[in-house]
Amino acid sequence: TISLCWFRRDLRLDDQAAFYYALRAGNPVVPVFVFDTHILNDLEDKQDRRLTFIHEVLEHMQTQLQQLGSSMDIFYGTPEAAFTHWISKYKVADVYTNHDYEPYAKSRDAAIAKQLSEHGISFHSYKDQVILEKNEVLKDNGEPYTIFTPYSRKWYDTLTFFHLKPYPCKKYYQHLFKQPPVKIPSLKDMGFTTAEKHFPAKNLDETLVKHYDETRDFPAINGTSKSGIHLRFGTVSIRALMQQAMQLNATFAKELIWREFYQMILWHFPHVAGNSFKKEYDKIVWRNNEEEFERWCKGQTGYPIVDAGMRELNTTGFMHNRVRMITASFLTKHLLIDWRWGEAYFAAKLLDYDLAANNGGWQWAAGSGCDAAPYFRVFNPTLQTQKFDKDLKYIRKWVPEFEGFEYVKPIVSHEEARKRALEVYGKALKK
Ligand code: FAD
Repeated sequence: TISLCWFRRDLRLDDQAAFYYALRAGNPVVPVFVFDTHILNDLEDKQDRRLTFIHEVLEHMQTQLQQLGSSMDIFYGTPEAAFTHWISKYKVADVYTNHDYEPYAKSRDAAIAKQLSEHGISFHSYKDQVILEKNEVLKDNGEPYTIFTPYSRKWYDTLTFFHLKPYPCKKYYQHLFKQPPVKIPSLKDMGFTTAEKHFPAKNLDETLVKHYDETRDFPAINGTSKSGIHLRFGTVSIRALMQQAMQLNATFAKELIWREFYQMILWHFPHVAGNSFKKEYDKIVWRNNEEEFERWCKGQTGYPIVDAGMRELNTTGFMHNRVRMITASFLTKHLLIDWRWGEAYFAAKLLDYDLAANNGGWQWAAGSGCDAAPYFRVFNPTLQTQKFDKDLKYIRKWVPEFEGFEYVKPIVSHEEARKRALEVYGKALKK
């Protein structure tokens, strides 16, 4: 009999929890992956950059496995169909995988575990994509935290050397199942084409991260790690990255804890996917003007810092964190457009898109989130520019026409928009 190791958002062959436990258990291990049509059918852009990224990573893993005489078995279809296929192809006794805290993933895994148990196959799942998960960091009264600062304090109190220890998969590679290469479905087979391949490097730029706390707020400076996509798909190990972070820069380590915080929130409060964390915020009567939404998406609001951010996103699949906050605040407060519209737009475009962090960021900006700023704090795009792009370097890069006649007029006046936001929010939130 053999074991299957099901790879999802953990695409690496070392320091990977499920892969380690599968290999160590001793039965020959077949690594498997599903190009899940439930997910792919929702992707509108047939040149999706993230799919190109995943495909490239899988090809690389396949080459490594072939050098070890093994192969990953990759299926295009639904997970249910994939397991039906693998169960008939191999004599499967166990399936190993890592936890995923998103609502779709939770129901998918429950369905697969049930399907497998009907064939007497065990399903084993492990913590891998975060350092501390679910109930590992709780308040003294046993409830989950909803405020970041006390959460991060408890996070540090809970952390031990053991939590950061790498899983030495390589030690057990002799337990890989030997077989000739299994063909990877091409992007074309799946109805997609290859996107431009400008992906951030996997290795951390240590010099950059050493100065992270001084440079990270200025979008014109290359001052953040760009590790988002690698954390999203597991091409780097969070344990290894956190070890480096703790040595290099405490502020950088703190951002990685924000990531764990939002994963924990999504686990305990799954209603945040689709609903406001603070329920009363769902009483806000959004204006939802489609033409204005379109202008925001295209970077044509007449507010240069907002337009620069949206154009950076549309062109590269990345947007600087400071500008994510400004553009999200602008959409929800200045334009009074439902945060879920903005969340969906970012989800379609961001290379590092992650449900927990994106939802957390959007609800923070809209004021509806667990640890959000009070709603009456409305970002002033002009003041934000003076503080964080005072030489206008970032704006000039993305909105070169902004000082000329051809640049669009502001979509609304800041003062009027601010007043309107306070009225609409105030009305919804009054007791
Ligand atoms: P760095 O600043 O170098 O940080 C390193 C890593 O820490 C990031 O890659 C990320 O994994 C984590 N991190 C940093 N800040 C945060 C944060 N505030 N919340 C959670 N994790 C954080 N981050 C995503 O990973 N995916 C998203 O879809 C996403 N959507 C966002 C939407 C909005 C409206 C806002 C305000 C923020 C969002 N963020 C998201 C958080 C943050 O903007 C990005 O993680 C960061 O800009 C990615 O760039 P980097 O890898 O260079 O980050």
